[in-house]
Order: sequence, then C-alpha cells, then structure tokens
Amino acid sequence: MIGASDIAKTRMIEAINGQPDSAVVAVMSTNEERAKHYAAENGIQHYYSSVEGLLTDPDVEVIYISTTNERHKAEVTLAAKSGKHVLCEKPLALTVPDAREMLETCRQAHVVLGTNHHLRNAVTHRALRRLIREGAIGQPLAARVFHAVYLPPRLQGWRLDKPEAGGGVILDITVHDADALHFALDDDAEEVVALSARQGLGQSGLEDAVMGAIRFRSGLLAQFHDAFTIKNARTGFEVHGSEGSLIGEDVMTQEPKGQLFLQRAEKREEVDLGEHENLYAHQVRHFNAAVKGQGTPFATGEDGVRSLAVATAVLESTKTGQRVPVRY
Ligand code: NDP
Repeated sequence: MIGASDIAKTRMIEAINGQPDSAVVAVMSTNEERAKHYAAENGIQHYYSSVEGLLTDPDVEVIYISTTNERHKAEVTLAAKSGKHVLCEKPLALTVPDAREMLETCRQAHVVLGTNHHLRNAVTHRALRRLIREGAIGQPLAARVFHAVYLPPRLQGWRLDKPEAGGGVILDITVHDADALHFALDDDAEEVVALSARQGLGQSGLEDAVMGAIRFRSGLLAQFHDAFTIKNARTGFEVHGSEGSLIGEDVMTQEPKGQLFLQRAEKREEVDLGEHENLYAHQVRHFNAAVKGQGTPFATGEDGVRSLAVATAVLESTKTGQRVPVRY
C-alpha cells in the first residue's frame, strides 16, 4: 500500500486480507515513524518511507494507492514502470490529460490499472444497471442523485483546506456520482452545469456543497446534490423511465446496505437484491482476478478517466458559471 490512509485502515486492508489470493504485506508513508506505527497497528509486516523502497520489496506484486489526490499520478507511474499492477483511489488524478497519461503508462507497462470506485460494486447499483438493461423502466429519461452527507470530523483535513491536494466535494463525491451514473445507465455525460457553495467547512476557496445537472448522450438529464455539510439527509439514486422508475434508498454509501424499489403504474415493489456484499471486497476480488488475466477490474482505469472528466467539467462550470462540455 502506498499511503497510510484512513480508507486503507477502515476498508481496504480488511477487503484485501479477506481474499484467498491477496494480503497486505507492506505499507509506505512519507513519514517513517507513522509508517512504523501504522504497520504495527494494522498487522503489516514491512514498512517504508519511500515509494522506491516499497517497490524493491520482493513480496510486493500489486500496489494499492490511497494517498491524497495530487500524488496519485506520480505514484501510479512509478509502480507501473516497475511492473506492478495498480489499484488507485479516485479521483485518478487532478486533470484528465494526467489521468490519460497514467492509463497509457500502465498500458505500455502491461500492468492492470483499476480505479477504486466502490458504489458500482454494491448489489443495489448492480441491480439498477441490470433492470435498466432488461427494460424494466422503458427508456431512461431522468436520474436524481442525492449524495449530500456530513464529512466525519476525523476526515476534516485536506479535503477542506488543500486545493493543491485535490480537496473539495466535487473531486471527492461528484466523481463517485459520475461513475455510478455511467455504470447504471451505460451512457456518457455530454455536458454539465453546476453551482457550488461554501457552507462553513470549506476553506481556501474549496467548495463543500454542489448541485448541478448533467445531460447524457441519450438525452437523459441527471441532477445531483453532493455536500460535506448535511447532517440529516438520506442518500438516494433514482432513475425514471418512460415505463417505470427505480428508486434506490440509502444507496450512496460505503456500507453494504440500502433498498431498491421498482415503481410501475400504481405498483411499487421492493427489488429482491439477495445478500448485500462488502463493496470493497467485491472490488478487490475482481481486481485480483484481472491481475491473473481473468477479466477486467470492476472499475477500470478508463472508468476513472471518465468520472474525472465529468467532475472536472462540474468544477469548471462552478467557476465560470457556464455550461461545460465533458472532455474525455
Ligand atoms: P487520509 O487523509 O487518511 O490519508 C491520505 C494521506 O495523508 C496518507 O497517504 C498520508 O500520507 C497522509 N496522512 C494521513 N494521516 C496523516 C497524519 N495523521 N499526519 C500526516 N499525514 C497523514 O485520506 P483518506 O483515506 O481519507 O483518502 C485517501 C484517498 O482515498 C483519496 O484519494 C480519497 O479520495 C480516497 N478515498 C476513497 C474512498 C472510496 O470509497 N473509494 C473513500 C475515502 C477516500 P503518507 O502515508 O504518505 O504519510
């Protein structure tokens, strides 16, 4: 792992160690003391204070990167050039050209690149996609994403005051919405318009709330609300079609939970989702298979470029007040 991060500690170490074919063997942090402490705290054998050191460890075959966003590009590049497969956190980079370069580096190095978009791994999101493809709601016309949450105090750091680290709610949450919409709809965002706000948490010019609209290639319109500042709202993901609606409740979350309802005419029925599975475990399982040449990561590098293209267009719209085309 590159990055002694919260997400690794709270989600990914368990997801990686929970697979029969992977285990966390080493961690790198820029601060050696922190690396040592983090390794001991999380049962990790080796620790390093440089990427180069980590990459010389013969036990390391695959790298998971969860540093702050501005570091992803350089770290993916170093990992790929030393022949390691990479699962990188979102957003892949701060700009689309940088993310494209990362993809190209991985392609040339013949290593797998995955993006850790967790939402599409949820049974709720997978069922949404399947039902839309099966025609359960006819032609999809509109989508609504409710993803306004309260940023937990332990995470109230660089996201709120470090523009240079890729802070702000758009690169943090809107980027996930963009991936979830693309995944469920199998459609590409074409243009966006958005307004952002600072509602008490964001500093140094960083937004902590955003609302906007996206026009997709099919003509579908999607609206989204993302925030770090809302304590009591439920999350949701709805897709409304010519023949019916799919209503996901409590589904924009890291937890394996939430419900999906199919509404047609007067009838509202709950979709049987089977067992909820840990989203991150599902992601790692598919990534491990891809490393072994079986299929692709559940969210690929290309998916990471796509979601970043939407998020950066949203960011640009909030700054210019203009409608912005999504440039992939
Ligand atoms: P953290 O702030 O926990 O960690 C990011 C980096 O900050 C670490 O790599 C570490 O650098 C440094 N750091 C962490 N704690 C300290 C500390 N106490 N003192 C000094 N430096 C510290 O970030 P998150 O885990 O919240 O996010 C990391 C990445 O993961 C981001 O790209 C984010 O967008 C993504 N993410 C993805 C989620 C998902 O569901 N897919 C959810 C949450 C985050 P170093 O170890 O090199 O010293």
